[in-house]
Amino acid sequence: MTFALVATAPGTRARAGVLTTAHGAIETPVFMPVGTRGTVRTQTLDQLELLGAPMLLANTVHLMLRPGQASFERTGGLHGWMGWRGSILTDSGGFQVFSLEHARPLDDDGATLRSGPDGPLIRLTPEGSIAMQRAIGADVMMVLDECVPSTSELGRATAAMERTHRWARRCLAVRGDADQQLFAIVQGAQYPELRRQSALELASIDGFDGYAIGGLAVGESRAEREDLTELVTGLLPIDRPRYLMGVGTPLDLIEAVHRGVDMFDCVLPTAWAQQGQVFTSLGRVDLRRGVHRVADDPLDPACDCAACTRYGRSYLHHLIKCEEPLGWQLLAFHNLRFFVQLMRTARAEILAGTFAAFHARMREALALRDPRDPPGRKPRVKRPRPGAC
Ligand SMILES: [Zn+2]
Repeated sequence: MTFALVATAPGTRARAGVLTTAHGAIETPVFMPVGTRGTVRTQTLDQLELLGAPMLLANTVHLMLRPGQASFERTGGLHGWMGWRGSILTDSGGFQVFSLEHARPLDDDGATLRSGPDGPLIRLTPEGSIAMQRAIGADVMMVLDECVPSTSELGRATAAMERTHRWARRCLAVRGDADQQLFAIVQGAQYPELRRQSALELASIDGFDGYAIGGLAVGESRAEREDLTELVTGLLPIDRPRYLMGVGTPLDLIEAVHRGVDMFDCVLPTAWAQQGQVFTSLGRVDLRRGVHRVADDPLDPACDCAACTRYGRSYLHHLIKCEEPLGWQLLAFHNLRFFVQLMRTARAEILAGTFAAFHARMREALALRDPRDPPGRKPRVKRPRPGAC
């Protein structure tokens, strides 16, 4: 077995486990920084190692468009090429078929994509996606799925779910004898009955190493997302990891851990850092605000990262206002560290049997705003598309 369940927390579905890959043991719950194109935006390899994140996410379609499958076959895979010694999970490309502007309608065989108005056409099929993920050398591969807006009407959501199941079987058939793991993806939009059907059908197929919950955070409310997550985790095998794709804020992560999810990725830590948005133990901070121009205290007194221990807020505010790349880099590093540490703390609380109380505390703490913000003020930020950064 590649996943060992170590503990569950009383009064909640939260779990602690260990996922073992060819590149190490990953303690769960875990947050995976997003390195869509083989780099986590603004972060050097040294910084990534300092973060303490054991696994990164990369994207099959973006790497297929550039540098292309032949590059990975020549170099032996992404690990050696980018110099990353930890584990890598690759998304299959299903979300890019859904979100890329130049994707064409898909059919039962697969989808055709174009990287831009004048870019080359590429064909993405379940078999082609797995071949690319094998060439990348991903420790964990994802099946190709059809993602639709969670608010899709029932007929479209049903057809996409059924196609996702057919494609999952095709991916399984071509995974080969590599030691790379393969996760299935539960779809079903916002319909509980479809989500139930998808989870049960995929769980009944022998051979998947884990299960992802896809197609959320694309239109539904937070309450709907949490209810669907809880429904699905209750139907999946307890001895396999569960991965909630592309979600979300620190509060979203804690709520999903509470509902039995083990793995997460999201672009928010790097994408929002570019806009001066920082997650801290004191609440969310909008570092663009003028009040920070004369504030010399640390960004987060509880954080041990370089942005918090070597600089004051006024300097970081200055960098962000001047759009200096160093400002984005430091805030991204802090945000990533915050997400990684939050999952580590959650794991410690699960192991100690105290996660239920921790969950109750964090629901309040993670909803806080910067105490220096005027009452009722909401930061103006652009929410990035998943996979955009
Ligand atoms: Zn920090």
